[in-house]
Amino acid sequence: MKYDNENIFAKILKDEIPCDKVFEDEHVLSFKDINPQAKLHILIIPKKKFIDIADFLENADEEYQSSFWSSVNKIIIKLELRDKGFQIKAHKGKDGGQEVFHFHLHLLSNS
Ligand code: 5GP
Repeated sequence: MKYDNENIFAKILKDEIPCDKVFEDEHVLSFKDINPQAKLHILIIPKKKFIDIADFLENADEEYQSSFWSSVNKIIIKLELRDKGFQIKAHKGKDGGQEVFHFHLHLLSNS
């Protein structure tokens, strides 16, 4: 499968579609899920193009992976979820329930 430059999250990254932004730095963009499954439901996406978590883990270099997870941690702290609790999910592939083929984490919390 090839990365599709016209997927929804690619368009959000290009500012072609609006999003309800929660956090942004040089590595990631995070915004509210349009169809929330918990009191808080945000998506965290790398700014670089990866189809899914497997593509990210196989092809992102160590420095980028480390920066990505560091940004995820910043979001957890910013939203004061560190001690309250949260879920992180990544869907991979059609059988894993993935609908948008730009790697993303779901961050959910009922706090
Ligand atoms: P997946 O099943 O691919 O892991 O999840 C894709 C998620 O993206 C879904 O939870 C869906 O609600 C969300 N989503 C789909 N289109 C949009 C959109 O245009 N804007 C936002 N903010 N979320 C979207």
